[in-house]
Amino acid sequence: MAKKSPIPLTLFFPIKFPGGNVVKRFAKPCVRCGEWVELKHMEGIVKLRADRALLSANATCASCGTRFPVDCMITPDKQVIKLHIPHAFLMWYLLRTSHIPATSAASTPDAAPAPSLRPVAAREVEMAIDVVGNYQGQSIPAAVSYKGIWYDFERVAMKQEAALAADELWLDSGLIFRRRA
Ligand SMILES: [Zn+2]
Repeated sequence: MAKKSPIPLTLFFPIKFPGGNVVKRFAKPCVRCGEWVELKHMEGIVKLRADRALLSANATCASCGTRFPVDCMITPDKQVIKLHIPHAFLMWYLLRTSHIPATSAASTPDAAPAPSLRPVAAREVEMAIDVVGNYQGQSIPAAVSYKGIWYDFERVAMKQEAALAADELWLDSGLIFRRRA
C-alpha cells in the first residue's frame, strides 16, 4: 500500500481547493542563506482539507545545502500561515492521516474497482466530537464511525466526482471520509 515516508512535494501541487481556488507554487527562503527553496527541493506531505491545506516538509537549500523544516497552513486565498507544532509530530500525523498520491513510477497493484457512489446518510454514522472545519454551515467531523469502522475526514466531494476509492465513505452532506489504516 502507500508508503509512509516523506514524498516529493511536487506531487501535491497544484493544490486544488474544493471552492475552485488553486495554489500552484510554493517556496520558502533558506533559513541560512536566504535563497528561495522551491518545491522540487522539498519532501513531505500535504493534507488537503475543506478550507485549508496543511503542509509539513523537509526543505534542502540548493545553494548552501542547509536542511530545514517547513510547517505551515495554506488557505484558499494563498495565505501561508506558519504552524507552531513540533515538526516531527506534524509530519507523522499528516503522513498517517493523508491520502498519498501515487507516484508516476509506482504501479498500482491494489487499484480496486471503484464502487458506485452511494452516499451514507448522516444519521447512519456516529460522528467524532473533533471538528476540522465548516462546510455549508455544518461542522465537519474529524472522523465518523460507520458499521463499526472509523473513517477520517478526507475532502469535500466535488460535483464532478464519479467514483470513490474502495476505502472511502461518502456522507450525504457532501463530505468524503477515508477508512482509517
Ligand atoms: Zn541556503
